[in-house]
Amino acid sequence: MFDKILIANRGEIALRVIRACREMGIRSVAVHSTADSDAMHVRMADESVCIGPPSAAQSYLSVPAIISACEVTGAQAIHPGYGFLSENANFVQIVEDHGLTFIGPTAEHIRVMGDKITAKETMKRLGVPCVPGSEGGVPDLAAARQIAGDIGYPVIVKATAGGGGRGMKLAKSADDIDTAFQTARSEAKAAFGNDEVYIEKYLGRPRHIEVQVFGDGKGNAVHLGERDCSLQRRHQKVFEEAPGPVITPQMRAEIGKTCAEAVASINYTGAGTIEFLFEDGAFYFIEMNTRLQVEHPVTEAIFGVDLVREQIRVAEGLPMSFTQDDLHLNGHAIEVRINAERLPDFAPCPGRITQYHAPGGLGVRVDSALYDGYAIPPYYDSLIGKLIVHGRDRPEALARLNRALGELIVDGVDTTIPLFRALLEEEAVLTGDYTIHWLEHWLETNLQPG
Ligand code: ADP
Repeated sequence: MFDKILIANRGEIALRVIRACREMGIRSVAVHSTADSDAMHVRMADESVCIGPPSAAQSYLSVPAIISACEVTGAQAIHPGYGFLSENANFVQIVEDHGLTFIGPTAEHIRVMGDKITAKETMKRLGVPCVPGSEGGVPDLAAARQIAGDIGYPVIVKATAGGGGRGMKLAKSADDIDTAFQTARSEAKAAFGNDEVYIEKYLGRPRHIEVQVFGDGKGNAVHLGERDCSLQRRHQKVFEEAPGPVITPQMRAEIGKTCAEAVASINYTGAGTIEFLFEDGAFYFIEMNTRLQVEHPVTEAIFGVDLVREQIRVAEGLPMSFTQDDLHLNGHAIEVRINAERLPDFAPCPGRITQYHAPGGLGVRVDSALYDGYAIPPYYDSLIGKLIVHGRDRPEALARLNRALGELIVDGVDTTIPLFRALLEEEAVLTGDYTIHWLEHWLETNLQPG
């Protein structure tokens, strides 16, 4: 059993992990940059270590600094949270080489899923439905033309090393394929140092549906249903819910079983998310995230489980505390991401919080590292909190969200709170009738800059 865990992260997710540690009787170590000396995760952890200057490259991404912090404090394991080093296979290798435990999957699983072509090939082999497309990488323009023609336009050219929505180009017809192929390639080379690209059928009006899976590393795995994260801006999720409004119990059981069996067969350890585009009743794999996701609390709400606790348990070599038969979905949960951003252009808005009040009451959870007087530093992600509501059904969750947003006060900086209040007036949001493009269109018509 671990006595002490180091959390290689900051903000709300660091707090999330500290809370799980405390409930399990495990001591926690926070690491922080000089810009975060007054941060909530530093105050809440049992111990803290300053690991470098404000720049993430020299602090939260500094592998030597984090390993030294473990050695100095005697922490036996590292929880990476999400972002930063959470999907860095080399980091996992170094952690293990130092006799420490990485709370997450193996370096090999991270590597396989981090490359989109190998991830897709692996999923296809394991029986997970994928978007029709090229078999692996596309070597040259002649091959690109041939493959795109065979798939049928429109197609999308994607970088195998891609991430964050970069390195993707749409070709609507045969006239576009040359430019799409060449620009995707050069962008991929510039952004990721790897110019390998592949081609997929472009889906015009999909929803984003992702399946939460969990494995014990010994061939056992379960699924915890799906989340619908279709409301996105620039491929960034802003509003997530579980269960998906258009997913039937039968679809859930089928896709869930397929995903759980796939990860069980590779002895996957810990939390993972298999992301799909969903169109006309069919699922198409796009990528797997080998870590805890920002939106994991909606799944926790409807299944009544603590996913971080489970991550820590399986990292200790213990079995999961539930089987598939123990998992029963209850009600509906919604999360909105509160970012320190100025509308309408979503410009980051760091600064001092002059007043903070978090909502409460039945079915309300706030995961945030904010406090009165806290100064949000300008160096990191603009996510400052997550508001999660749980109700008996979707209408009750929506009403609760509206009520909770009305109680939430974050003064001193601009936030995305007004966006959610406006969205809750929209028929499409109330009925759950949208694709991944809906929010972009809505923003264009309703939030004109200036
Ligand atoms: P990244 O890792 O860069 O986020 P993904 O493969 O997850 O890349 O794709 C990001 C987004 O790009 C998806 O959420 C979707 O909006 C769009 N996308 C990706 N593949 C397709 C496709 N085949 N058809 C339509 N849209 C796609």
